[in-house]
Amino acid sequence: MKLSLFSAVLALLLGLSVQHNPLVRPHDEVVKTKEPFRLDITSKILEANKGSNQILVEGDVVLSKKRNAMKCWSSYCKWEKSYNGLVEVPYTLSDYFYDSEKASIVNAMESFQKKTCIRFVPYHGQSDYLSIESHLGCWSTIGKDGGEQVVSLSVYGCLDHGVIQHELLHALGFHHEHTRSDRDQYVRINWENIPDGELYALMDMFLYF
Ligand SMILES: [Zn+2]
Repeated sequence: MKLSLFSAVLALLLGLSVQHNPLVRPHDEVVKTKEPFRLDITSKILEANKGSNQILVEGDVVLSKKRNAMKCWSSYCKWEKSYNGLVEVPYTLSDYFYDSEKASIVNAMESFQKKTCIRFVPYHGQSDYLSIESHLGCWSTIGKDGGEQVVSLSVYGCLDHGVIQHELLHALGFHHEHTRSDRDQYVRINWENIPDGELYALMDMFLYF
């Protein structure tokens, strides 16, 4: 009798522990089969961000709550070059990611290292760092935001190589190309081909911030 009670309590505790274990992801298989493999990077991000509870500008940019403008006017939001000429960007990876997913993120980070002075380095107490987590959608602030800075790479649709690179580029300080202030020196926009209501996305952001 005592043994069966013990078993029941143990089963209950195990059940609760599974319920509260953030590593357990319900419906993994169902969601993963929906992954839009054939979409381009932008479409994949927009697809993953449907229903996001964040206020997102241009689909995947989170406005900083630590500074009052999206534009980075000072060196404050640039990642500094260190004495060795490299720009080190510390990061942490949430344990919500499986090891294979962590490997995908690190792989995307390393793709920058091959061609630039950017070095993503594991966090070890630096004051500013990226905390890469899986929230609803793929999003980031622009540039260094100060202190802990969340970059969301949802396990449901954001772990594509190009999507990871895209969000990391935002965290490094890059805007979308079509909103660069010097855009019109390089491309001609066929305004007449843009559906009503979508024009705002191509307007120079200097008009808004
Ligand atoms: Zn973006």
